[in-house]
Amino acid sequence: MNKAIFFDRDGTIIEEKGYICRLQQSEIFPFTAEAVRLMNKNHFKAIVITNQSAIARGICTREQVETIHREITENLANQGAVIDRFYYCPFHIEAVIPAYREKSEWRKPMPGMIFQAAADFHIDLSQSYMVGDDVIDIETGKNAGCKTVLVLTGKGCQARELLPARGIQPDIISENLLTAIKEIYG
Ligand SMILES: [Mg+2]
Repeated sequence: MNKAIFFDRDGTIIEEKGYICRLQQSEIFPFTAEAVRLMNKNHFKAIVITNQSAIARGICTREQVETIHREITENLANQGAVIDRFYYCPFHIEAVIPAYREKSEWRKPMPGMIFQAAADFHIDLSQSYMVGDDVIDIETGKNAGCKTVLVLTGKGCQARELLPARGIQPDIISENLLTAIKEIYG
């Protein structure tokens, strides 16, 4: 069985800027490559788990989202960091595009994307982590049976305030993805 670090996209590996259809290379956080290299070196699969309801909302196309993911993958690969795969959920219950109007098991906080990744990569979820900057990332990780990490980039500081009222406690709270990965291996 493999182990994985699942992680969110916006606010976790790139800046949180609401719905984006294009990426400036400068928006990739400067610590992302080193964080992913550490995952690679420690034999954790590096897997992105991201809601992209911008597709359902007609704000951007699937092709635009996939272009962003290719650009992130290539940027990091040029720095020796390998992302194993992006999983994204294009669906939303209030989609303006009928093909994407559904209550999907893939949409965080449901664990569908993580379950799919676990099947695809033979991952032991109890030995794996979900890292993100939002309340739903922590919920998703817990719903999947993973350990959870809240990072304080993106919406992280807000999320840290909101979590106690929901009775949710992440296993680790850390400054950013890189410090989080260092704590996991510490
Ligand atoms: Mg996020």
